[in-house]
Amino acid sequence: MKAGLFASVLGVVLISVSYQATAKAAPGGADLILTDAHVYTLRWGEPSLDGMPAPDAPTTNGKWHPDAAAVAIRGGKIIYVGSDQGALALRGKRTRVIDLNGATVIPGLVDSHTHFIELGAKLESVDLTDVATEAQAVAKVAERARSVPKGEWIFGAGWDEGAWANRYPDKQQLSAALPDHPVVLRSLHGFAIWTNQAALDAGKITKASPVPVGGEMRLGPDGEPSGLFLNRAATMVEAAVPPEPQAIVARHALKGLGQMATDGYVAVHEAGVGAQAMAALQQLEDQNRLPIRVYALLSLRDPPLMRQWIARGPDRDSDSMLVTRAVKAYYDGALGSRGARLLDDYADKPGHRGISGSGYGFDRDLAKAAMKAGFQLGIHAIGDAGNREVLDFLEAECKADPNTAQGRHRIEHAQVISPEDQPRFARLGVIASMEPPHAVEDKSWAEDRLGPQRILGAYAWRSLRTGGARLTFNADNPGSDHSIFYGLHAAITRQDKQLQPPGGWYPAERLTVEEAIRGYTSWSAYAAFREDQTGIIAKGRWADLTVMDIDPFALAATAPEKILAGRIRATIVSGKVVYQR
Ligand SMILES: [Zn+2]
Repeated sequence: MKAGLFASVLGVVLISVSYQATAKAAPGGADLILTDAHVYTLRWGEPSLDGMPAPDAPTTNGKWHPDAAAVAIRGGKIIYVGSDQGALALRGKRTRVIDLNGATVIPGLVDSHTHFIELGAKLESVDLTDVATEAQAVAKVAERARSVPKGEWIFGAGWDEGAWANRYPDKQQLSAALPDHPVVLRSLHGFAIWTNQAALDAGKITKASPVPVGGEMRLGPDGEPSGLFLNRAATMVEAAVPPEPQAIVARHALKGLGQMATDGYVAVHEAGVGAQAMAALQQLEDQNRLPIRVYALLSLRDPPLMRQWIARGPDRDSDSMLVTRAVKAYYDGALGSRGARLLDDYADKPGHRGISGSGYGFDRDLAKAAMKAGFQLGIHAIGDAGNREVLDFLEAECKADPNTAQGRHRIEHAQVISPEDQPRFARLGVIASMEPPHAVEDKSWAEDRLGPQRILGAYAWRSLRTGGARLTFNADNPGSDHSIFYGLHAAITRQDKQLQPPGGWYPAERLTVEEAIRGYTSWSAYAAFREDQTGIIAKGRWADLTVMDIDPFALAATAPEKILAGRIRATIVSGKVVYQR
């Protein structure tokens, strides 16, 4: 009797469970259906280390073709991938159907090393790049000032200090037109700053202010600063600029994220978030205003913030729009300015090897504490010595505490790697986080710094792959253009936007189109511990998709230069169309 009662209760429970399941599935159907698309799902096997597609990849006689035509989405997840007919069978009364007319759909793009808050600030600053005269520049800044509250700083950039060298501007016109806003106008190449009186007053800069060695503060007819600062004197103005209030940081963040969404990205890894930026991002997350996913790398250069997060521990939940489980550190400088640490002298500066580690401000103990607390480290390393020392550091730490070996630590840039260190990435499980644009932008001087031998280990995507390293791709914006079409083209051809050099720069390091796309999708998912939620287009995954008007898989084989002309059609995050052209 007791057993029978139990069974019937269980029966009722089972019935109600299955009723709930069908009730949830039946009415309404899909939220969104994309049809008539060239869908490349990436849900096939990984390519070999030399780039050969997996046996189950959708290729015929070496030519790629899409492996689905439609995707259906509900509740932020993909519920169907396949034919138009199959997707439309899930159409309900409230389903939105978008006919893509043959556009290409790939898993949502991720830029795994951005500075989108800086990008937003740059987008908000007045663009003076095509301005011919001082009067035009002043008019452009004054126009902007109409929508900026009095007292708030206005920034601009791009006036050409080379072209204007014989007729440098001063504060007179600028101060007359903008009496109530401190104005800082940076020059095209960063060697000069032009300000108004309000900025000089705010910075308490007078003729008595000390001028740093290697700088020049121009004086006007009255003997007071003219408003023009050259070379290192620009730091006098930079030092006067107050830290921005959180509301402005939040505005810049939204501006930068909006731009990334427009450009096809469903997620970014922000490389180096300090306390103020973190507060702004958390506020935007709480207000449900983040348009795309943010994977924040906390700045190791902010020790109080780090200590707070070490005590709290990393976010384990990947589903929020803001996830914090990684840390950004700097280990050495940059190659162009000869700050990167090399194993031997710079080819163009004998006796000089750059600087690294504690000399560059790397806080080893804080980095160790973050690893121990479960954070992933993303350490900036450029030179072959810088990279070796970081690998040594990670190897020692992972040996001492095997738990930290699961941290999927990353080297940001991994720019110059000695051949003997290439296989260490795979052995230690370290991810190489790299920028395809950097190779084609640095090619004019990188070999001067490194010479003909070491250059072979620079921007060496294929060599690292061959050594078994996992890669993730990004642009490190706003220093480089984050256009996916530029990034893919650089990765596939090793040519710049002018298609130089013919045949590609050190073309042995090129990647295939599949590898390049994985670098921005499935491999980036791994770099953020999200390979079970996203990275490929498959049932149950996040509905994060990018739609573009070109088919890079097809063009890579026939006319790779046409990839540069691609345009984003739509960006879909968690089933929401966050951008549509
Ligand atoms: Zn960076």
